[in-house]
Amino acid sequence: MLQVTGVFKNYATAQGPLAVLRGVDLHLQQGESLALMGESGSGKSTLLHLIAGLDQVDAGTIEIAGQRLEHMNEAQLANWRRTEIGLIFQQFNLIGSLKVEDNLAFQARLAGRYEPSWQAELIKRLGLADLLTRYPEQLSGGQQQRVAIGRALASRPALLLADEPTGNLDEATSDEVLQLLLDLLANSSTSLLMVTHSPRVAERLQRTELLHFGRLATQS
Ligand code: ADP
Ligand code: MG
Repeated sequence: MLQVTGVFKNYATAQGPLAVLRGVDLHLQQGESLALMGESGSGKSTLLHLIAGLDQVDAGTIEIAGQRLEHMNEAQLANWRRTEIGLIFQQFNLIGSLKVEDNLAFQARLAGRYEPSWQAELIKRLGLADLLTRYPEQLSGGQQQRVAIGRALASRPALLLADEPTGNLDEATSDEVLQLLLDLLANSSTSLLMVTHSPRVAERLQRTELLHFGRLATQS
């Protein structure tokens, strides 16, 4: 469902162009989970941004669920991102002025994909029932990340992109949040691409790829 082919990405810096991605090839099947590892600064977040259509490749192609990203204009891209992509970040990125229940539904409503029964199931399985009227600042880190997972999955995206989603959590909370996420994905067709520094986290996913010197190498 995801096909990244020959992707190059440079950044312009004061010292001249910085070549971050130098021929990245990546294939992900429907429902598959992949851990993306690599040193800090190796370009993991850059690759995730490109796949989410938040930035553009210099060369190469990205195809998701039969759609070529470079063939879409900004409006199509924004609409496609809302419906087909779920994003989870290390910093949770919840909307501070919205209660938990409205954070959860926000993206699905925008996408016209709000399903009350799926929303109710997410709330139950993520253990959020008692937190619905709270604001993000009234939640622990683990609770905030559970809300972020629910928000990302509410529209039933084809692809979930997670950038070090457990990086700000202690080990026990990280394990718990990861297990909830994997349980939710187990019987779904959503594919998962997760950036992580943790071999323990990577081990729980089906495959691991290492980004090194701008290219990917399969680890397992
Ligand atoms: P990772 O997520 O693997 O730590 P990033 O993708 O964030 O790596 O960054 C890869 C490299 O590109 C780093 O050297 C970083 O400093 C640089 N970089 C990232 N974003 C920009 C930008 N917008 N402009 C210039 N350089 C950038
Ligand atoms: Mg990063």
